[in-house]
Amino acid sequence: MSTKRDYYEVLGIPKNADEGEIKKAYRRLAMEYHPDRRPGDKAAEEKFKEAAEAYSVLSDTEKRQLYDRYGHQGPAQSGFQGFSGIDDIFSAFADIFGGFGGGFSGFAGGGRRVPRGDDMEIELEITLLDAAKGCRREIEIERHIACDDCSGSGAKAGTQPQRCRACGGRGQVAHQQGFFVISTTCRPCQGKGTVIVDKCNTCKGSGRVPKKGMVNLTIPAGIDDGQKLRLSNQGDPSPAPGGESGDLYVHIHVAADPRFVRDGDNLWVDGKLSFADAVLGCRLEVPTPEGPETINVAAGTQPMSRHVLRGRGMPNVRGRGQGDLIVRFIVQVPQPQELSTEARELIEKLAPHIAIAPSSASSASSPPHDNDPDKDEAEDDKEPGLFDRILRGRKKK
Ligand SMILES: [Zn+2]
Ligand SMILES: [Zn+2]
Repeated sequence: MSTKRDYYEVLGIPKNADEGEIKKAYRRLAMEYHPDRRPGDKAAEEKFKEAAEAYSVLSDTEKRQLYDRYGHQGPAQSGFQGFSGIDDIFSAFADIFGGFGGGFSGFAGGGRRVPRGDDMEIELEITLLDAAKGCRREIEIERHIACDDCSGSGAKAGTQPQRCRACGGRGQVAHQQGFFVISTTCRPCQGKGTVIVDKCNTCKGSGRVPKKGMVNLTIPAGIDDGQKLRLSNQGDPSPAPGGESGDLYVHIHVAADPRFVRDGDNLWVDGKLSFADAVLGCRLEVPTPEGPETINVAAGTQPMSRHVLRGRGMPNVRGRGQGDLIVRFIVQVPQPQELSTEARELIEKLAPHIAIAPSSASSASSPPHDNDPDKDEAEDDKEPGLFDRILRGRKKK
């Protein structure tokens, strides 16, 4: 603390200097020692920081009173900590640095002080097949560009934005809370430091007007629901000349496709088989992202078993190969009311021939008559129903 120079001395002003003198002195020093003017000059950077600290205390009525009464200890005890770095200074005194304008091009050159445009977010729904192939979309978005009629100031032609009286143009207001001084964004000016008295009719004082424009989107193959694309600098333009535009974020929604269930890069489809198809085997048409495809279903296909079409699922969105298309077989059992009398009679006749062996747990893979031909024959005579046989098989076990 003791090594700190007197703030008035730092700014080169008398103890009774008014607000305008303080600001003027600080601007002069800030320009002189600005890091953009003296890149790499550590001594200048220290002077720049020292001036900023002096200004931040003396330009604030409360802090100045504390300083006048208690010296450097005063503002420190009320929570003032100085600045952590150069960027901190620029953000604290944005109005001062902004006020230098184009007359001092060195400030615009650094890039960090020119505010960036706002990011924008939009939502886009595509189909699963679009996601599988990748697609292009031309979409209309509404950006907020500087109002022509007021050149973006928001003030009516012939008027200027006025310095905010609530915060004295700083954009921040200090409140005493117990021992602490808490700085918050000034409400009347929303931190801008200026207020518009006569609002521009065109933009209602915002300085921005909506303008529709088209954006071309390339949506990569394999994109999944909920993923986000970022288009750099396609958002709102910067409110200041030379500033970077914000980014445009596109939230992708992939609409559910009733034929497919997606699991990462794999796609699942249900292959519906009749009992006869499962037993005898068949050709079955299944949907794939490239269109329908006919597969061979082997004789004896079991319910819930799978047939994998390698590399026929979704492409990986990062270009790491291709997922599989997995056909899961569903064997459909007809409802009683769906069966004609004739069909029912035929199934009743068939039932004993395909009945499950009593010792099914140990010989499930073998046909029943191979294990126990006598018994099979004996039970053929009685023609029990399928459920009968299953129940009896369990009891014997
Ligand atoms: Zn204000
Ligand atoms: Zn306007």
